[in-house]
Amino acid sequence: MLSYQHAYHAGGPADLHKHIALAELLARLTVKPRALSYMETHAGRALYDLGGPEAAKTGEAAAGIGQIAPDPATPFGHAIAAVRAEHGPAAYPGSPLVARALLRPQDRITLMELHPAEHAALRDAMGTGATVHRRDGFDAVLALCPPTPRRGLVLVDPSYEVKEEYAATARFVRALMLRWPEAVVMVWFPILPAWRHAALIEGLGPLSPLTDIAAITPRDARGLQGSGLALVNAPHGMAAVFRATRAQTDGILRDA
Ligand code: SAM
Repeated sequence: MLSYQHAYHAGGPADLHKHIALAELLARLTVKPRALSYMETHAGRALYDLGGPEAAKTGEAAAGIGQIAPDPATPFGHAIAAVRAEHGPAAYPGSPLVARALLRPQDRITLMELHPAEHAALRDAMGTGATVHRRDGFDAVLALCPPTPRRGLVLVDPSYEVKEEYAATARFVRALMLRWPEAVVMVWFPILPAWRHAALIEGLGPLSPLTDIAAITPRDARGLQGSGLALVNAPHGMAAVFRATRAQTDGILRDA
């Protein structure tokens, strides 16, 4: 398919939900010095320009990151500050740059992105700080795991362009758990009026994920009503992570 472009949604309310939770999770996983493997199935281009036509067209960034001034003392605020120090005040970090800002030299970052232009931009944005593959995210992560080091986190953030992707995402996570049982897995999913995420939640059921659903004011009758996160092998204290996420998005996200 590959018609989805994340630039239209970067920095919007759903991105804030995902990226603040990711940053809080990484901050907890990096307390211990032991190295981590960080992998993404669907990485995007990593660096977004909120001054560009895509952000202006949807207004999502204005309704999201445009409403808050992230505290640089928080993990997400640190990632925003790091990217803006390097690329200017209109820059916004996608998940790979959020991760790079919080990971340490001993950690390994491996990213999958299938779209040719997004993949090229991702390689430019990450430089030598990550291994970047132009491959199907599910196939590649399954082929490369369990990685070394074995302690690690996988972010699963598909574009859900076709309805079959919800059930396929759950099948992927179940297959991943068979190969790499100790992996922490964070799956993002949209809450749309058609309620298609039910297939994903049902498919993840045997893994007992911790879920967090944030309500988003829909832009129109077919628009996004909420943002969901499902965490498999959630580390101790993750409920506090979700509380910390909500505390940083007052007025943008609320419990659904
Ligand atoms: N994780 C990113 C972030 O938070 O900044 C956003 C990723 S975006 C929701 C999904 C990305 O997956 C798009 O860039 C799209 O090109 C890419 N993609 C679509 N199908 C793919 C596939 N089969 N394998 C890997 N990447 C794919």
